[in-house]
Amino acid sequence: LREKIDGLDRLSLVGQMAASVAHEIRNPMTSIRGFVQLMSERDRDSDHSHHGYYPIILEELDRVNGIIEDFLSLSRNRVVHKEPLNLNALVEESLPLLWAEANMNGIEIKLGLPEQLPELSLDRKEMKQLLLNLTHNAFEAMDRGGTLTLRTEADETAVYLRVSDTGCGMPREMMDRLFQPFFTTKQKGTGLGLAVCKNIVDRHNGRLDVRSEPGQGTTFTVVLPLK
Ligand code: ADP
Ligand code: MG
Repeated sequence: LREKIDGLDRLSLVGQMAASVAHEIRNPMTSIRGFVQLMSERDRDSDHSHHGYYPIILEELDRVNGIIEDFLSLSRNRVVHKEPLNLNALVEESLPLLWAEANMNGIEIKLGLPEQLPELSLDRKEMKQLLLNLTHNAFEAMDRGGTLTLRTEADETAVYLRVSDTGCGMPREMMDRLFQPFFTTKQKGTGLGLAVCKNIVDRHNGRLDVRSEPGQGTTFTVVLPLK
């Protein structure tokens, strides 16, 4: 037993160290991103041959930042800051980012946002991370183009957010493992995205459902209870 406890302590110590390293990396990353952005704006009118590198650098920096955010939100119990929030508004404010990513991948975005949607008490930052993680997976599942559909809905008990893609889909056996940390089928995947989504939904007393058909596409449904 003694050895087991020591093992666990060591594991959680490593986890804590990794979390604080990730936390410390975040600030310099932010300033690097800011300066690269500035350089790209200053260079806009010059015809330097390196001009095409900026979007790639920025994209890769965003990728690292996404990994750090996922890692941090799994490694510590973040305090939830709930505020009244309309999911439609959250989808709409995320659209510019989604359009940019869709454009690069030949993907069309369809929306189904009803005019009336009840507000819920939600953590805005976490909801955005949830939406971006799900849409990011959807984009990655459609490597030869397709359609991303974002839909919201409500009934007497809950509000629903559905993220559908027309991508590769997945076999039934995989569905049980999706939400495990580090489960990935991608060469450059971390396997953290859906584990984070599951965590966020749990912290909001909600549910995350998935339906998928190999070769046809996938729909993730976030169910958030009204009370
Ligand atoms: P990562 O994206 O880093 O692989 P995630 O936790 O986000 O990690 O996803 C885990 C795995 O679930 C992916 O590697 C992929 O196999 C599968 N997956 C997630 N979303 C989709 C989707 N929309 N379509 C097909 N497969 C998916
Ligand atoms: Mg992912």
